[in-house]
Amino acid sequence: NEALSEFLRRTPKSKEFSAAAKHVMPGGVTANIKAFDPYPVIMDKGAGAQLYDIDGNQYVDYLLSYGALMLGHGHPAITNAIQSQMEANGTVLFGTPHRLEVEMGRKIMQHYPSMEKVRYTNSGTEATLLAIRMAHAYSGKHKIAKFEGHYHGGYDQVLLSVNPSLDNAGPATEPASVIESKGVDPYHQQHTVVLPFNDLDATAEILRKKKDDIAAVILEPIQSGFIPADQSFMKGLREVTEELGILLIFDEVKTGFRVGLGGAQAVYGTTPDLTTLGKVIGGGFPVGIVGGKQDVLMTSAPTSNSDVFDSSHSKSSQAKDVLFHSGTYNGHPTILAAGLATINVLEQEMDHVVTMTNKLKKGLSELFGKHGISMQTIGLGSIFNVVITDKETIGNHRDFQQANFSMRKELDFLLLNEGIYTKPLNRYSLSTVHGEKEIQDTLAAYEQALSKLT
Ligand code: PLP
Repeated sequence: NEALSEFLRRTPKSKEFSAAAKHVMPGGVTANIKAFDPYPVIMDKGAGAQLYDIDGNQYVDYLLSYGALMLGHGHPAITNAIQSQMEANGTVLFGTPHRLEVEMGRKIMQHYPSMEKVRYTNSGTEATLLAIRMAHAYSGKHKIAKFEGHYHGGYDQVLLSVNPSLDNAGPATEPASVIESKGVDPYHQQHTVVLPFNDLDATAEILRKKKDDIAAVILEPIQSGFIPADQSFMKGLREVTEELGILLIFDEVKTGFRVGLGGAQAVYGTTPDLTTLGKVIGGGFPVGIVGGKQDVLMTSAPTSNSDVFDSSHSKSSQAKDVLFHSGTYNGHPTILAAGLATINVLEQEMDHVVTMTNKLKKGLSELFGKHGISMQTIGLGSIFNVVITDKETIGNHRDFQQANFSMRKELDFLLLNEGIYTKPLNRYSLSTVHGEKEIQDTLAAYEQALSKLT
């Protein structure tokens, strides 16, 4: 089609480079999500809210590295923080506890009062992995429950029913546990129970039946960052998990410091037992945090007589009653400096990001209305998605699957040609440096794109 031909015409160097990259990395990518047909755009530079590809095309960036870049590209507050940290300390890494771990921890706990203690990890994936291990250690129970359509990272225990095809996803009220990747051990289908999002009755029934085995329910309080839990669903879920002695884990890797400074838990007024954060809090660098109830976090506290596992010890001194948590880079000082700088800026500018996001959503709704296309901008705070659908409400994976993806995809290529970047079919995230100009440019690009839709 026209949109694709124009895309091919504008991006010959990306095409060439992608072909060469396939000789180095399987599929030419180092994260499968970065691939798309016919080939991904290869970016070269970022500045503020803009990205520039290797063909010299300029884009307003709404991918923002899957939501990680809350201050846009190359923000001076982050650059300065990294430089000062390295100059002041004369090293990038201590291999010991250090001051920034406590300073950052206090800052996070101030915004997330549900966190009575925190532990650092190197990614969102590691954070959910640790949170789940803590839940097992605390409860002594060996299963977890997750919701259909929710993503918590790329390991076996949660790589189930993230994006199942509706043909084999089982009944809506009792979803099957569907393996999402080759290589996942089928063992986990028996140990990860899948729940129907935004269906409180069905969720409660499954949990009641399996309460003796389920250590925790983990969820994205806002699925994929844009499909919110109903307020009544969230309230009911908190009540039933508490009643049944099942821990509630909020995976706020996407929503933390994005739907508001206090994340989804502040929006809902819900206190989870554990929370995971990532993305925004690293200022563009890899990081994760697990925080939550003192008793649960303390499963990882070393004891004085047999505190740590060190493979170089001639005799194992691991305390078998302590949860193992380690990592060479945990609490990396340079990354925490970048993260702290990000949060400091965000404390001043979060309102601006939300105002701009709402302005963009409103403008888009008007434009789609003008073109007679049924569309919803679903999401809260600084994230949303453009969902082309006739359905009145999108409450879960199954509703979302009925959206018009082929029109959205054509639109995404038209928008790439107009200088608007998100990965085709992905959601939109904004940053502190998305201002009036970016919003107006984006609406003008949409106007063009919508008028060219076939
Ligand atoms: N949990 C959620 C809700 C996420 O959105 C992501 C990443 O997109 C992860 C966990 C995994 O985080 P990471 O990619 O940092 O490993």
